[in-house]
Amino acid sequence: MTTPSEVVAEYVDWLAAFLPDDYYENYRRYRWDIPLRRDHQRAAFEAGWIQPTWPREHGGRSLGLRDAMEIRIEGALRSAPKLPNIQGPGVAAPGIRQFGTPAQIERLLVPLLRGDEWWALGMSEPEAGSDFAGLRTRADRDADVFRVNGHKIWTTQAHESRWCTLYARTDPDAPKHRGISCLILDLHSPGVRIEPIRMSSISDETFCEVFLDDVEIPVENLLGPVNGGWNVALSSLHHERQMIWIMNWVEIKRGLDAVRKAGADDQGLCAELGSLLADAEALRATGYRALGNELAGRNSPEADIMKLLGSVTLQRVWELAAAAEGPGSAGDPDLLFERQDALAATIYGGTSEVQRNIIAERLLGLPKG
Ligand SMILES: Cc1cc2nc3c(=O)[nH]c(=O)nc-3n(C[C@H](O)[C@H](O)[C@H](O)COP(=O)(O)OP(=O)(O)OC[C@H]3O[C@@H](n4cnc5c(N)ncnc54)[C@H](O)[C@@H]3O)c2cc1C
Repeated sequence: MTTPSEVVAEYVDWLAAFLPDDYYENYRRYRWDIPLRRDHQRAAFEAGWIQPTWPREHGGRSLGLRDAMEIRIEGALRSAPKLPNIQGPGVAAPGIRQFGTPAQIERLLVPLLRGDEWWALGMSEPEAGSDFAGLRTRADRDADVFRVNGHKIWTTQAHESRWCTLYARTDPDAPKHRGISCLILDLHSPGVRIEPIRMSSISDETFCEVFLDDVEIPVENLLGPVNGGWNVALSSLHHERQMIWIMNWVEIKRGLDAVRKAGADDQGLCAELGSLLADAEALRATGYRALGNELAGRNSPEADIMKLLGSVTLQRVWELAAAAEGPGSAGDPDLLFERQDALAATIYGGTSEVQRNIIAERLLGLPKG
């Protein structure tokens, strides 16, 4: 183990000073405490911990990747309050920073990073989830606006958000993935109807459907080039993907502790526990290998492997915790939440089946089945 650099130690002290004295004692309550999580985001922005590699005015400290990763690890190990609108800083912000015009960056980035304006991701549609390139929402140029018609689904927190990165087809004649653009949609625009989806699972991240009926989006709200939406989507998601393993790894460790506490004395459970411990370490090692590649400026193909390994291992861990707890586990709301949350991780950002296809075809070079 390396010793944490001074800046990492500074972050740890900052977090300890921010958290209420009874935070760990009452963590079950605090994890759902949105005002606390909002305050934490605002304070973290001011202190430069939101995106540590970015400059101060964009919520960072211009740190190197290694320090940034250690800060994420320390925050996760200490159960730092989860950002209440995680797709804003995690996905929308990197896209705006990379592809935004100076006017877009000036207007949008700071309110997003401070958590004053929430963001939704308008990618999935009823007939286009895994097949993102098959989306049908249309954006037709009409003088100085795009006129948008279509239907998005699974749009997390759209009903509480001000903005949405909306992916729509701007060239119906181009090959599927070359005819998509990313537009910044003001969700308060006329013609936008948002309907939250009733959920049976425990979550504070409500899914929505977003119906778009002749919505006008000014041309200056285009994010990135016309018909360049595919790249905007991949680059925006990539940023979070390189770090998402940390959250999964820490959650896996928590799950393993729960299994040990429940007492996995059955031989089958012990074998599964051993296999999961090995997978957790493989995930951590792969995370560091990805960092090594990035630092050396090499292509880093690990993100897809970490997404698959992290989410599948997390799901196995919480299923093992339920098995170790026995029939009573069905009535344990905390455990139920963990199991549902782990299942969700195998779907969003690319399902496990699709990740396996990508790894097989693009990383291993296997022929299409
Ligand atoms: C918690 C959560 C939050 C989300 N938030 C958002 C959001 O904010 N914005 C947004 O746009 N979307 C969001 N999504 C949606 C998510 O991106 C989609 O659910 C995901 O892309 C899968 O699409 P789908 O649900 O349409 O399933 P489908 O693509 O219809 O897949 C159905 C099943 O078929 C399998 N399958 C599909 N294609 C293949 C293939 N080629 N080979 C093998 N198997 C295949 C899948 O693995 C899956 O098991 C969220 C999802 C979850 C769970």
